[in-house]
Amino acid sequence: MKVIDYHVHSTNSFDGKSSVEDMCKRAIEIGDYAICFTEHFSVDPRDVSYGVLDYEKYENEVRKAQEKFGKQLDIKMGLEIGEPHLKEYVSDLILQTSKMQLDFIIGSVHNIDGVKLRLYMQGKNKYELYYEYFQEIYKMVSVSDIDVIGHLDLMKRYAYESFGNYEFEDYREIIEKILKTAILRGIGLEINGSGYLNSVSEPFPKPEVLQLYRELGGEIITIGSDSHACETLSKNNKKMSNLLKEIGFKKVYTFDKRKKIEIKI
Ligand SMILES: [Zn+2]
Ligand SMILES: [Zn+2]
Repeated sequence: MKVIDYHVHSTNSFDGKSSVEDMCKRAIEIGDYAICFTEHFSVDPRDVSYGVLDYEKYENEVRKAQEKFGKQLDIKMGLEIGEPHLKEYVSDLILQTSKMQLDFIIGSVHNIDGVKLRLYMQGKNKYELYYEYFQEIYKMVSVSDIDVIGHLDLMKRYAYESFGNYEFEDYREIIEKILKTAILRGIGLEINGSGYLNSVSEPFPKPEVLQLYRELGGEIITIGSDSHACETLSKNNKKMSNLLKEIGFKKVYTFDKRKKIEIKI
């Protein structure tokens, strides 16, 4: 089985702990086939990532790594863009990203109305906060130029402690709207392993969501550990490939200059 990690942060992200080179060395050590760096990027001044990415430095580091390790590891350069759907910032986003040589873009919701999810939760009941999160993902998938939806049910990471996990059936309608729109617009989903590393103990999104995506005819899936340090690189990626196989997926995808490439699992 080819191990692929398509959600990796280096020190080019505000919360990254390992360098591009160290991440690549680790990937080779554990026998990965392909990795894609997906550094945080936001043009919203309220976001923690605003103004953090030094694109030139990032590109230099990735090109160097490609030269050095390219024979052993397929290395790509992408972004994880926070709230790419916000109208007031979208022209700036297009202007800035059009100058970049990107292989892959994850679209993620980390804030609602410019407020971090952990803070956004305050004063809301369980249904509201999960529903409003999915609503925001729906807005994103309806308009954004992205390749996959990042951690589709990330809200459970923050809500878990106070409210527990959500029941898929309670949100089926909005999730189905998200998935149908994604399929129509040629946008995929990622399965993100970072949920295994905290009390949620399951991937983002939960298996029922992946199952429904498949039933609706969805095919584009990427696998990512969402690692911010070498120690967690590709940690549950084999497990996630097996889960996808159990659900009935036969392939996952990598990307090259935003064109998808099938990989058998
Ligand atoms: Zn994220
Ligand atoms: Zn991430």
